[in-house]
Amino acid sequence: MASNTVIVDENQMKGQHDYTRTEEKIVETQKNRRGYNFVAIFHLVLFHSLSIYFLLFKLTAPQWQTYLWNAFYFFFSGFGVSAGVHRLWAHKTYKAKTPLKILLAICFAASGQETIRYWVRDHRIHHKFSETEADPYDVRRGFFYAHFGWLATKKSPLILEKGRSIDISDLKNCPIVSFHDKHYQVLRLILCFALPTTVPVYFWGEDWWIAFLFNALRFVLVLNAVFSLNSFGHSMGSRPYDTNLKAVENYPVAIATFGEGYHNYHHAFPFDYRTSDMDYYFNPTMRVINMFAKIGLAYDLKVASPEMIKRRAQRSGDGTHVFWGTVGGVPVNGDKDCSVY
Ligand SMILES: [Zn+2]
Ligand SMILES: [Zn+2]
Repeated sequence: MASNTVIVDENQMKGQHDYTRTEEKIVETQKNRRGYNFVAIFHLVLFHSLSIYFLLFKLTAPQWQTYLWNAFYFFFSGFGVSAGVHRLWAHKTYKAKTPLKILLAICFAASGQETIRYWVRDHRIHHKFSETEADPYDVRRGFFYAHFGWLATKKSPLILEKGRSIDISDLKNCPIVSFHDKHYQVLRLILCFALPTTVPVYFWGEDWWIAFLFNALRFVLVLNAVFSLNSFGHSMGSRPYDTNLKAVENYPVAIATFGEGYHNYHHAFPFDYRTSDMDYYFNPTMRVINMFAKIGLAYDLKVASPEMIKRRAQRSGDGTHVFWGTVGGVPVNGDKDCSVY
């Protein structure tokens, strides 16, 4: 665990975090049907087609430096989503000093996704109204809907209404968020498309078309890694912390998303910057945040108290928790000292 951490227990979280699942009953209604979002569909089809073309016919064409560059940029842009818009801005799991916020906003712009405010609002609704009609990525509508169908359709009146009720006032006073939101189309064009295509051409003479196609694949892979949390991360895996949540622990998704796939834990304890209590699991986002904490750019890193995790896992988990699970209905390590992990 990093320095600068704050151990948080249930009593401290009362009224502090608005993004745990609400008890409010959402009335299911057919009125919430949505039309198609043809602009999004056009972009999804175009970039997936370019990626498939590259994979089938040009995969061996790039120079070795271009592979390394795209691997780096995949992590760089993905980190903007995991550590930036998700763990910092959507959940406030830690605090960041201005230079780190600027870096995270640049990384997030490199992922080519929406404005920070748009992303945060959608994500807070997702947590608060998970698996109801007000959930933008409602997995009950099917695996493919949760993966990218939600992006190909317009938001329903209910999602728009619930979105307006979500508090995002904490973002209003951040000049970095405001700058990103105001200029996000230009930032996206430069950081998601122009820069990553130009660098291989300028520095080691890569072919323009190959550099462009490889970057299209990188962009699509980051998108699909994030989408996989809504699809695989809400359908395939275990629920060691809370079986009332559809979110699951999915290790391949954790690898694709740099540690975001421990999704049952994350929905149970959304304020925890680690998104998992297993500190030895694959979680490069947590490790990079720890590194920034060491040099003083990240601080107040929130973690759920081991007692709180134990209570939740034993009360409502599916028995598969490494420490607090059950074997044949009998709790394992029931008397284990919580301070050991
Ligand atoms: Zn989240
Ligand atoms: Zn989720």
